[in-house]
Amino acid sequence: MIRISKNRCVGCGLCVEICPVKAVSIENGIAVIDKNKCINCGSCTSNCPQGAVRDIKEELVVAIGTDDEKIIKQDDHVGESKYYLIYRYSEGDLIFKEKRENVRYKEDETRIHGDPGKAKAVSSVLKGVDVIVGKIIGPNIVRMKKTFVPVIIREPEIKKSLEIIKENINEIVEEYEKSGEERRGIILI
Ligand code: SF4
Ligand code: SF4
Repeated sequence: MIRISKNRCVGCGLCVEICPVKAVSIENGIAVIDKNKCINCGSCTSNCPQGAVRDIKEELVVAIGTDDEKIIKQDDHVGESKYYLIYRYSEGDLIFKEKRENVRYKEDETRIHGDPGKAKAVSSVLKGVDVIVGKIIGPNIVRMKKTFVPVIIREPEIKKSLEIIKENINEIVEEYEKSGEERRGIILI
């Protein structure tokens, strides 16, 4: 299924020009695909300069915050995780791609709405990620949700959490399609 991220699309119109079946139009400055016309040719996904068009069955990148690679970080915000395990959602499965080490950044905890420097540091490690998964997501959620879908999972074991993510992928994709301002954190048990 071809989907456009409202958060990433800048309305440049390139996809409108290249679509062979005229399935794309620009509405309120954002590209919209007519699913009844789209033939899944993939031209728009490979040519969008913003990476805003995705075939969700092919690609949704998920990062899980952890210290030991077995358990989701339990004792602090996901932004304080030592590592992020990166998975690609593809054809109904989550496939492990890589482990990324988090940057060390001493957060200014006196900031009520989170330290923007911390959000920037974590975002630099999470380039290309669409969904961030943790047990606790701190006050920086307001900034982070502009780039990622924040998912809070109560189940500590990463192995079991992957199953929970797959079971709830439709809800996650719905959030992914919203703009950052409209997004909320998804809580999964
Ligand atoms: S090419 Fe990408 S950024 Fe440009 S209008 Fe289409 S989806 Fe939006
Ligand atoms: S996948 Fe192909 S047919 Fe579908 S909207 Fe994109 S360019 Fe058009």
